[in-house]
Amino acid sequence: MVLFRNDLRHRDNPAFMAASKAGLPVVCLYVRDWTSTNTRPPGGARQWWLNKSLSSLNASLIDRFGGGLTLKTSDERGAVGIIEDLLEDLDIAGVFWNRRYSPHDVEADKSLKEWLKAKEIAAESFNGHLLKEPWTVSTKDGRPYRVFTPFWKSLSSDIQLSSLTERADCEVLQMSSEDQQDWDMHPTKPDWSAGLSETWTPGENGARERLEHFFENALSGYDENRNRPDKRGTSRMSPHLSFGEISVQRIWADTLKVMSDRPNIEADGWSFLRELGWRDFSFNLLFFADDLAEKNWNAKFDAFPWEKDESFLEAWQSGKTGYPIVDAGMRELWHTGWMHNRVRMIVGSFLVKHMRHDWRHGEDWFWDTLVDADPASNPASWQWVAGSGADAAPYFRVFNPITQGQKFDPNGDYVRKWVPELKSLPTKYLNEPWIAPKEILKQAGVLLGKTYPKPIVDHKMARQAALKAYEAVKNAKDAA
Ligand code: FAD
Repeated sequence: MVLFRNDLRHRDNPAFMAASKAGLPVVCLYVRDWTSTNTRPPGGARQWWLNKSLSSLNASLIDRFGGGLTLKTSDERGAVGIIEDLLEDLDIAGVFWNRRYSPHDVEADKSLKEWLKAKEIAAESFNGHLLKEPWTVSTKDGRPYRVFTPFWKSLSSDIQLSSLTERADCEVLQMSSEDQQDWDMHPTKPDWSAGLSETWTPGENGARERLEHFFENALSGYDENRNRPDKRGTSRMSPHLSFGEISVQRIWADTLKVMSDRPNIEADGWSFLRELGWRDFSFNLLFFADDLAEKNWNAKFDAFPWEKDESFLEAWQSGKTGYPIVDAGMRELWHTGWMHNRVRMIVGSFLVKHMRHDWRHGEDWFWDTLVDADPASNPASWQWVAGSGADAAPYFRVFNPITQGQKFDPNGDYVRKWVPELKSLPTKYLNEPWIAPKEILKQAGVLLGKTYPKPIVDHKMARQAALKAYEAVKNAKDAA
């Protein structure tokens, strides 16, 4: 039996491969555990993706191996309860899975292993999700890395590509399964998913095609273009990676191959691989830091005097802050379930520094709306933006949303796409429409406060207020 979790693929899947090698029919089990256990339920955008990804995996399994996924909803016993029930009708020789890394999941998998062993059922787990697992990357004195650069040096030095497997060959045994439709993962009242369907093809084939497209069209120039939201400069592999529709080790190996075939893109290739390193770094933090999404990694930030103003939060969520680059990002997120990394940093900084709202509100909103929302990268990145995280951006460095927009969207294409009410404004006013002469605004059809909001905060004043509030953290640091 194989437990599928965040590894919704049949290729390069070490757990599936091991089960297939046992020479017996294989049950492919997916357990929906978030309705009954302490597992954080996937947000709306991720449920949309999961629905499609499960259908895609199911169809491939039926097509290649004769049987599909067995879907079950657990009670509070989790996967143990489901396997216990299945044992009534089935002899199970072994259970195989790819490992997960949050302390909560590690604990659950440890108990499962013990329970299976007590029943004399073989239990084997594998690395199918990371380049290197957290306990294999540590400092000389055996402690986890707190800073990315030495982590990256250690990570990238000798990666064993253990999850690249040959083609599995087995019969998949179809057990009685719940109807996926009954899990209600596709939004209906209303169906807000049109933008997601236009943008993505969830599933293993979609992942492979997107990677090929990236290699052909954007790997060359990645290092420079990855900061430009107006270009298709990055891979957009994050949701595929997050659901495990492709193995990160496969991406690593294929990138190295493309680099050796096209030596002129060596620097771009390494720049891309380094970003994959940040993903492993986030999982490292998750593994060692309990409650990454709940607690400040740097406890000094507990002293920060966060504000809470629902109307500000609503303006931010709906892309109506009056700062065009921030609003463009939040609208891209709402429409497609994804946002460019540079813009994630800008909108994150705006929430935490200009609005002085707790990073956890941002993390929560992203959790619900991002298709790639991840228990490691999402909280780790939010804490990075807030200044409370590992190797974080210092809190006193406050992004200026006007100059960031001007620098990274120099012709205004990104803002014009997502904030069409400003599309006729000359580029020089696009990131600060409030300084445009009345006549220009009129010609562009912009009525500030009516067709497009006035800024909810003044940049300079907000920056000063943020720095003042930060004193509380500095003093906490001094006192420690
Ligand atoms: P590429 O530039 O093509 O990078 C390739 C891959 O490397 C990505 O698919 C991703 O898996 C990984 N990666 C790249 N940058 C990072 C990073 N900074 N941290 C961790 N992994 C990275 N990424 C998520 O996968 N899930 C999240 O929930 C998430 N939340 C974020 C929240 C905030 C506030 C910020 C600032 C960043 C967040 N990121 C998250 C990181 C990053 O923005 C996305 O991984 C990236 O934008 C995905 O686009 P891409 O696949 O085109 O990236």
